[in-house]
Amino acid sequence: MSAVSRAPDAPAAEAGPPDADPVVELTDVTRSYPGAPPVHAVRALSLRVLPGELLAVVGPSGSGKSTLLNLIGTLDRPTGGRVRIAGYPVERLSDRQLSALRAEHIGFVFQQFFLTQGVSALDNVAEGLLYAGLSRRARTAAAAESLRRVGLGHRLRHRPHELSGGERQRVALARAVAGRPSLLLADEPTGSLDTASGARVVELLRELNADGTTVVVITHDTELAARLPRRVVMRDGRLVEDRRGAAPRTPQEATP
Ligand code: ADP
Repeated sequence: MSAVSRAPDAPAAEAGPPDADPVVELTDVTRSYPGAPPVHAVRALSLRVLPGELLAVVGPSGSGKSTLLNLIGTLDRPTGGRVRIAGYPVERLSDRQLSALRAEHIGFVFQQFFLTQGVSALDNVAEGLLYAGLSRRARTAAAAESLRRVGLGHRLRHRPHELSGGERQRVALARAVAGRPSLLLADEPTGSLDTASGARVVELLRELNADGTTVVVITHDTELAARLPRRVVMRDGRLVEDRRGAAPRTPQEATP
């Protein structure tokens, strides 16, 4: 039984969405911040993301990309409109149910990695599984497997300061996907990496996507975005473009 459907006040009708349903469904979503004047970070935005998609969100700074990702990640609630994630209506779930939804369905990666200093890569990844209801031993085994999946099987005992920036981001990626989320959200994951490390992270996002994970990635890198299968462009809180079809991959990206 899923962590979400275990929650006692979860709406029974929402217990098991069929696979073909969108992973992300935003309908006329608005997120405003009060003030004089108020800031409309996201305005009347509608977006559907189907299982298995790999989607880039691009747009100038301040256009609402992070706000959009926080809404999709259920870290924030809209001031208007409807958000459904993995079939669950966010507005009808309690904060506790949203935590369960995130723990079971969503992985996050941020530009700044957010690893715990002084703690091994293995323990950093295992920490991400604390709410998965696994024994410590099972958490450690899953963390090791996840680190091997991102090519860090030889760095299990290294602590963040003993790793390069690219390796740290791969640890963060391993942590995000250790619980096998259906949806991976990445906010500028290559923003603080050199080109080669960034390309490796993008390659890993592609591999995870090829394995069935739906991926939404915010990026400033228009070349990177151009090579992903779908791009949505944000401007002034609005979704102004939604394009499909990728440019060819660079030789560097294609290198295993
Ligand atoms: P982006 O990720 O594209 O740079 P953001 O989503 O961070 O854009 O921000 C969109 C707009 O919302 C900006 O004008 C920003 O200043 C504003 N904003 C974001 N978070 C807050 C907040 N907590 N309070 C007030 N305004 C905010």
